[in-house]
Amino acid sequence: MASNQAKTILQNVFGYDEFRPLQGEIIDNVLRKNDTLVIMPTGGGKSLCYQIPALIFSGLTIVVSPLISLMKDQVEQLAESGVAAVFLNSSLPPAEYRRNVEQIKQNKIKIVYLAPEALLKPNMLAMLSSVKVSCIAIDEAHCISAWGHDFRPEYRQLVEIRSRFPNAAWIALTATATPRVREDIKNTLHFDASSEFIASFNRENLFIQVIPKNKPLEQAIKFIKKFPDQSGIIYCFSRKQVDNLNEVLKRNGFSVKPYHAGLPEKDRKENQELFIRDDVQIIVATIAFGMGINKPNIRFVLHFDLPNNIESYYQEIGRAGRDGLKSDCLLLFSYADIQKIKYFINQKNDHEKRVANIHLNALLRFLETDICRRIPLLTYFGEEYSIKTCNMCDNCLAEEKELIDLTVCAQKFLSCVKRTGEKFGAIHIIDVLRGSKAQKVINFGHQELSTYGIGKDYSKKQWLQLSRQLLHKKFMIQDMEFGGLKLTKKAWTVLNGKETFSGRLEEEPVDEISGKVSGKVPMPEHNRDLFDILRKKRKEIADAANVPPYVIFSDKTLIEMAAFFPQTKERLLEIHGIGQVKLEKYGSIFLEIIHKYCRTHQIEERQKKISTTVKKNSEPVSKPRHIVIGDAYNSGQSIPDIMTAFSIKQDTVLNHLYSYLQEGHKLRSDDELLALSTLPADHKARAVEAFEKKGPEFLKPVSDALCGEISYDELKIIRLYYLSKNKLTLKTQMLPSV
Ligand code: ADP
Ligand code: ZN
Repeated sequence: MASNQAKTILQNVFGYDEFRPLQGEIIDNVLRKNDTLVIMPTGGGKSLCYQIPALIFSGLTIVVSPLISLMKDQVEQLAESGVAAVFLNSSLPPAEYRRNVEQIKQNKIKIVYLAPEALLKPNMLAMLSSVKVSCIAIDEAHCISAWGHDFRPEYRQLVEIRSRFPNAAWIALTATATPRVREDIKNTLHFDASSEFIASFNRENLFIQVIPKNKPLEQAIKFIKKFPDQSGIIYCFSRKQVDNLNEVLKRNGFSVKPYHAGLPEKDRKENQELFIRDDVQIIVATIAFGMGINKPNIRFVLHFDLPNNIESYYQEIGRAGRDGLKSDCLLLFSYADIQKIKYFINQKNDHEKRVANIHLNALLRFLETDICRRIPLLTYFGEEYSIKTCNMCDNCLAEEKELIDLTVCAQKFLSCVKRTGEKFGAIHIIDVLRGSKAQKVINFGHQELSTYGIGKDYSKKQWLQLSRQLLHKKFMIQDMEFGGLKLTKKAWTVLNGKETFSGRLEEEPVDEISGKVSGKVPMPEHNRDLFDILRKKRKEIADAANVPPYVIFSDKTLIEMAAFFPQTKERLLEIHGIGQVKLEKYGSIFLEIIHKYCRTHQIEERQKKISTTVKKNSEPVSKPRHIVIGDAYNSGQSIPDIMTAFSIKQDTVLNHLYSYLQEGHKLRSDDELLALSTLPADHKARAVEAFEKKGPEFLKPVSDALCGEISYDELKIIRLYYLSKNKLTLKTQMLPSV
């Protein structure tokens, strides 16, 4: 059966254990010679979808690809796995070009890569018509569509050659998800609806984080320091910014190179090549960088400035972690950057302006969300994401902070917006509230207002946080054109005291870059020392062969070697990414290094197969943390036990227990919680009584009833005790306002 053969090739030639989602189905469809349209995110594994059929079909597979650099990369990688592949384009020396053509004519080649205009040339068509063509693969198929971001007219003519190759299977592949582009591809190529295979756009291995941009340079440095010796891209808004940041990072001793359209072609090429070959660690770039980069081991993408829209953002972060290992994506977010984008939007005509504003709003929804970041992202791509917590974004890992009553702050802010005439942005409002002597404040005479200087007790950052929450919860709107804040009807309910406003205010600066590692994406424990030795050897071999290191072995391959210490060729074959040809080529060199290392350090081989099955079986079905912790508590574990088991603070445990109650669970009723309180017995009793009277939903009324004598921390403990003792949950009483 075809799919068995495909699986064998996957393992023997490419050295992979399993197909990724949809790969198997797609390959079967191609082998049946059905038209196939593949929509898969970057790094999803599109190439194998035509490479494996190419090895099964008896004739030639033609791959249409728009970029010379990609062709070269693919051919080099295939050659390393022992696949007879070539490309034909103008960059080749004539002799080599002729040799490649000869080999095609002699049926010695399985895959040929061509640019569309090259394929469409009469000579080329004549040559290819003289051999058996089994499959035509159109890579980057969105280039067919004028709706896509990279329209190439020659792509549209490809359909004209369909009749020339009546027995070939046609497969088109793209990472562009928009339905319009998809339809356009199908219509242009005359594919029918059954041809479509759409993979999930969720890239599970990307850790997604957005933080307020406070001190961008410090934040950037702190972030990239987490990835010593590992590759990453920093995206900036402008060429000037690229040059500046590149200089500063260089001065700080980082291995960086710039990339933008203003640099001479030669420099750009050279910098890209240095990056790809692991000779330079970091590329600081504008959006000009990335097309045609196949580097699988990019460990981080930092957005120093805002991306243009969600689609570019997703494409840019998608360049990280193609190898499936955990990779980090951090975005520094500031409202000033939003103003910059708005400025550019305002230069556009009315229609473009509308479209651009829609894109900007979608981006803002993603940036400002406090739910899982994958929800707004994937919703944007028309995908339903049903998992509540991905455990791979900042919001999912954020320890739940309790909402506090911020009514008075909100009133101050809103009334200042009103008094300044609903024309100004948050920065100016905050200046007025904090009694700034800034020229703009004086020019408008705002130092005379009653709201001038009434907000000195909060920092600028805290006020900004508050204003974001007021916007997010629709107490204000922001003028799309000029950035001025305006009150909504809802604001008046707070201003006149009919409604309260609760939110979150961090005491410390909120620029914490998450260093937490999620357990969801397997990154095998490995010996760093051996990994570094193996990596050096890889670089040596790659340089000698004049190819990027990942063409020889991926990082994941080396990591597995440094985790399982294979001692024989059979064992080496079990390692990710090692097929027959690579085993023959490099097996003994790497085995020798591993042997030597194991002898010196008295390390024994570890079984790979066992550990992978263990990993798979024990993969958590992503139970939310508060449920795990609530269940643990109810099973009799003490609070200190839980603190140790999960390495979290007491406060965090209590917050989780509170969330547990909010979802309708009860807590075991004994005195354990009460014992955590350091209050004298009579205070405890009074607090419990206050909860009885005022209800457990809000702490403020309870605190007021106790004349503020008991701290909120203590009240939280007593509240949990009160709820557990009375076997209450919070589900019916309180609807969380988030
Ligand atoms: P795309 O073209 O969709 O961006 P690629 O085809 O370049 O993605 O694949 C991304 C990476 O994933 C490559 O390094 C590839 O070798 C690897 N890969 C593809 N399929 C598998 C698989 N079934 N198992 C393991 N790795 C895979
Ligand atoms: Zn998430």
